Amino acid sequence: MNSTFDNAQKRLIQMMEGLNLNKDVIARLSVPNRSMTINLPVRMDDGSTEMFEAHRVQYNDTLGPYKGGIRFHQNVDLDEVKSLALWMTIKCAAVGLPLGGGKGGVTIDPRNYSLKEVERVSRAYIRAVSDIIGPDRDVPAPDVNTNGMIMGWMIDEYSHIVRKHQPAVMTGKPVGIGGSLGRDSATGLGAFFVFDLWMKRNKKIPSETRIAIQGFGNVGSFFSIFAAKAGYKIIAISDVSAAIYRKEGFALSDLTAFQKSRKNLIDLKCESGATYETISNKELLELDVDVLAPAALENQITSENAKDIRASLVLEIANGPVTLEADEILEKRKIPVLPDVLVNSGGVIVSYYEWVQNRTGDYWTEDQVNHKLKERIEDAASACYNHSTSSDKTLRTAIYERALKRLSDAIESTGTQETFNGK
Ligand code: NAD
Repeated sequence: MNSTFDNAQKRLIQMMEGLNLNKDVIARLSVPNRSMTINLPVRMDDGSTEMFEAHRVQYNDTLGPYKGGIRFHQNVDLDEVKSLALWMTIKCAAVGLPLGGGKGGVTIDPRNYSLKEVERVSRAYIRAVSDIIGPDRDVPAPDVNTNGMIMGWMIDEYSHIVRKHQPAVMTGKPVGIGGSLGRDSATGLGAFFVFDLWMKRNKKIPSETRIAIQGFGNVGSFFSIFAAKAGYKIIAISDVSAAIYRKEGFALSDLTAFQKSRKNLIDLKCESGATYETISNKELLELDVDVLAPAALENQITSENAKDIRASLVLEIANGPVTLEADEILEKRKIPVLPDVLVNSGGVIVSYYEWVQNRTGDYWTEDQVNHKLKERIEDAASACYNHSTSSDKTLRTAIYERALKRLSDAIESTGTQETFNGK
């Protein structure tokens, strides 16, 4: 079986060849500029030392400093981090940001460690990568199992190393230390804007639209709340502990209470008094719904289960939830896939706004941030939908083509083989 990166790379090369891009551009974008693996020695609470494998991948910085989150998860490996860094390169280009693509990760299940141990791991990670990150080089952010507090520890460690205040080295930090208003909800809100625009174009009625969401973390929970507020019916949600289902749809107050509680779904009760059914993750993915929104991890819809998906739209809120083979099956079955590099780009868009605010010292209101997010993401979404319709290509191909146009223009502007051969 191909690895996640093999698939991501294959998909990218196919798109670049389809566009007949210059071969220098294809060469530059087919592999990461730098992949770094380190082992972090960390003192445990009981006095012992444990080694944690960690990575930072800097995929491409033609358009600006590398940008991409840091994931803490037991399954993190170099292959996954390379894939995520490739997708960040495409995502930043697709929504017109002056940023490149990178990603980081530590192989750790944070649930098995104390908060103090997680802090030491976070600081050790920064000590190991401090030479290659920085506000003009590479700007990390949160991802799965990392949050504002972890960003705060990381900025503190980095600022001690470089001996100056450097809030712009990380985004997704708490507002009190230079974070942007609206950053926490940005990825879910951006996903909602992209989704709602699609539904309006296709004249769908929110109250008749049933949605199942896999993954009720930062992004999935905010998306569910924005969608419920707009009248869409959220009928199933899940996290690592359980998937829960309610045919009539969850009340907004229950979704909000679930988000606030930070408990596993398996331990929750509906505050509204409504009851729900517990189902399996497989059942959630294969539910008879209008929209399936995977918002957890990559490789969830594969060649094994793509034929069993009953939703009429797949909304990729997570990065890489649909494999290359599954994409082909869904295309044949005429199930459109709203692609990750567009749908979840709200996070990096507001991260970019945070970085701009840190560098200018001019801070914006939440309304200003959300308004700018809406404008930028809807502009990219409209361009993607129009191009897909006029060219009869998938939505993924349409958004990749938009990104690749920007990247290839930039790469070609410093010369290609033809330039140097006087052609
Ligand atoms: P998170 O850690 O806050 O939440 C992840 C959720 O997925 C949790 O509820 C977890 O329990 C659940 N989960 C994990 N494995 C699962 C499984 N097998 N079945 C069902 N649920 C499962 O992470 P997040 O920040 O919400 O990120 C989710 C996805 O969105 C990732 O793919 C991430 O790369 C992507 N993303 C996040 C951001 C951001 O700003 N946080 C930005 C862009 C993309």
